[in-house]
Amino acid sequence: MNLHEYQGKSILKKYGVQVPEGIVAFNSDEAVAAAKILTEKTSSNFMVIKAQIHAGGRGKGGGVKLAKSIEEVQSITNAMIGMQLVTPQTSAEGKKVHKVLVQQDIYYPGATEIKELYMSILLNRVVGRYIVMYSPHGGMDIEKVAEETPNEIYTEEIDPKVGLQDFQARKIAFNLGLSGNAYKEMIAFVKSLYAAFINSDASLFEINPVVKTSDEKIFAADAKVVIDSNALFRHPLIVEMRDFAEEDPIEVEASNFSLNYVKLDGNVGCMVNGAGLAMATMDIIKLSGGEPANFLDVGGSANAKRVEEAFRIILKDPNVKAILLNIFGGIVRCDRVAQGVVDAYKNIGEINIPIIVRLQGTNAVEGKEIIDNSGLKVYAAISLNDAAQLVTEVLK
Ligand code: GDP
Ligand code: MN
Repeated sequence: MNLHEYQGKSILKKYGVQVPEGIVAFNSDEAVAAAKILTEKTSSNFMVIKAQIHAGGRGKGGGVKLAKSIEEVQSITNAMIGMQLVTPQTSAEGKKVHKVLVQQDIYYPGATEIKELYMSILLNRVVGRYIVMYSPHGGMDIEKVAEETPNEIYTEEIDPKVGLQDFQARKIAFNLGLSGNAYKEMIAFVKSLYAAFINSDASLFEINPVVKTSDEKIFAADAKVVIDSNALFRHPLIVEMRDFAEEDPIEVEASNFSLNYVKLDGNVGCMVNGAGLAMATMDIIKLSGGEPANFLDVGGSANAKRVEEAFRIILKDPNVKAILLNIFGGIVRCDRVAQGVVDAYKNIGEINIPIIVRLQGTNAVEGKEIIDNSGLKVYAAISLNDAAQLVTEVLK
């Protein structure tokens, strides 16, 4: 699950990672009130106004602006909230801005000693360990650094059994070119960051930039935080941070029915029980000349009700020209699924596109009979090849 910057920072703060003072605002009145509180706290009236959307590259798209007065806080927020923000990481339409983070400006105007560093924590699946990836050259052009001077990007592997060791934290601070107080602060920073990562069951932290201020302090100036969705049951407070406005509405609806649905760009909808079978089904669709319109795993207990919900979800996508249902009857019985298809067809009403049903396993033959005798525009197959053949034919 993706979090907004301000939500990610609240997690970092809880574990002692130094973040700039900031308050989220949904309109310019709230932003002005927030700026007044922050001015009291930080005795500066310089603020950055940051669009809160689930995408990075906001600086390049005009989603991060410096305000030098309360009036500017108001006018910048007014312009930012409601805009379609286009960044290198969004689609061409961009994402609508619903809220902004009003934050203390930690770049202290006029200072020459500011440094932007880069740090992320992620899982390296090849070695089965977390890694801290970091660079003394953070900021908006980190992709360029990775491309042109990859030796300027360091990684530190962490053994999950013992966690991040002190010598590793010192090595990281040293490689970042820090000394004095900044060196000490960085050691504390990376240790707290790792603790925050592990304890929140995150799958990605990307702090770009980590800022060293002119007075030798270390701050997480930005925060991209992704939490492992499979661990959310342990984090009720994080679950509440989910922002449905940032997600595809069809995917949200599918998740309400505990259906594993991911929308894709093709024309053949698919409904499958089991993720591996779903991947194989998407391959077979491509082989037969179609493009999968979605990934959908109805799960092991594919009963009639779930089959119907899944149909409704797939049919919401106007690009879908045919549906391939591929069910392996292991625990679930094929005749029951077939009956579910027939019922769904009748309950949903006008389904004007062909449906190909491939049933294999327990009671597959009985299942095919039910479909064949239903008189509906549903094609039944038992072998995957036959199903693929049918997909090719209906697409013609
Ligand atoms: P991103 O572009 O979505 O990754 O957003 P960031 O939070 O990384 O901000 C982008 C850029 O805005 C940074 O690289 C800085 O140059 C600038 N920026 C961020 N925070 C501050 C701040 O507190 N003060 C000032 N003056 N600039 C900032
Ligand atoms: Mn950033």
